[in-house]
Amino acid sequence: MTWTPDAATSHLEEIAKVRGITIVWTEKPPESHPGYAMVWINPPTSPIRYLTALHEFGHCIDPQAVNLWKFCGKRENAKDYRKWINAESAAWGWAFAECRPALAELVRERDWQMAGSCWLSYGRHLALQPVR
Ligand SMILES: [Zn+2]
Repeated sequence: MTWTPDAATSHLEEIAKVRGITIVWTEKPPESHPGYAMVWINPPTSPIRYLTALHEFGHCIDPQAVNLWKFCGKRENAKDYRKWINAESAAWGWAFAECRPALAELVRERDWQMAGSCWLSYGRHLALQPVR
């Protein structure tokens, strides 16, 4: 099977419709905001972009995936890495549970490595932020 962005795009649009979430298509790094029920996602031109988009939906939909310090202004949670690690894991878990298996099979090893190193660098960045 080769990658066809159309199938991935219609799956993402279907989730948005069913869940009442607004998609903003962007080429900037993906983001999500559960409070506004919005995701800023990249057009799924590759399998990893599709899974990452699902991950952002997960942040809006799965209660465990809502990053409390980031989205609820609870700065006291900023240094509780267990909370945001759990939120990130839950958002990926949601993405895996909801993805179309045939599409997810096309994600390559180096895509996962890239996603993993992004996550780790995000964590490192957080660790260096002062808590106010
Ligand atoms: Zn995330």
